[in-house]
Amino acid sequence: MTSRSSTRHPLGSTPGIAAPYDPWADLRLNWPHVKVVIERMTGDLLGEVRDDGQVIALRADTSAAQRRCTLTHELVHLERGILDCGPWLQREESLVHAEASLRLIPLASLVEAIRALGGADDPAALAQWLEVDSETLAVRLSRMTSAERRMLRRSLARQAPLWSVA
Ligand SMILES: [Zn+2]
Repeated sequence: MTSRSSTRHPLGSTPGIAAPYDPWADLRLNWPHVKVVIERMTGDLLGEVRDDGQVIALRADTSAAQRRCTLTHELVHLERGILDCGPWLQREESLVHAEASLRLIPLASLVEAIRALGGADDPAALAQWLEVDSETLAVRLSRMTSAERRMLRRSLARQAPLWSVA
């Protein structure tokens, strides 16, 4: 379940190239029996898994980036196979959020986005560039390891600006 307050993966990723995970491709390839419905929802719900994993419902009045993030989130729930985790609900939710953010924002994509925007001062622009919602970006940034931070700094320092010509 994802609420509004809302990786590594072999699919769609090529070593060395920033190719973020595509949940719609994952759905077609690995979950062909799962039906996705887009519908109006009350409250702050963005999506949920229903019918014992047969249906994923996504909220209708959301952006493509939000639906992309929510679909990823629900697919991670399906992969983990823990649809009812009782008292561990909060822990499971935070693990699923973390995994979805890793998948959707590989470090290489983050480097590319920051370079393209000339910095990371504008989270909304960064999220838009990465085609994710702001919560997914916030989760990704808050869970970066110190090794990733070092790599990020190094990549940003090393790489010449995209527009440079020789
Ligand atoms: Zn959830």
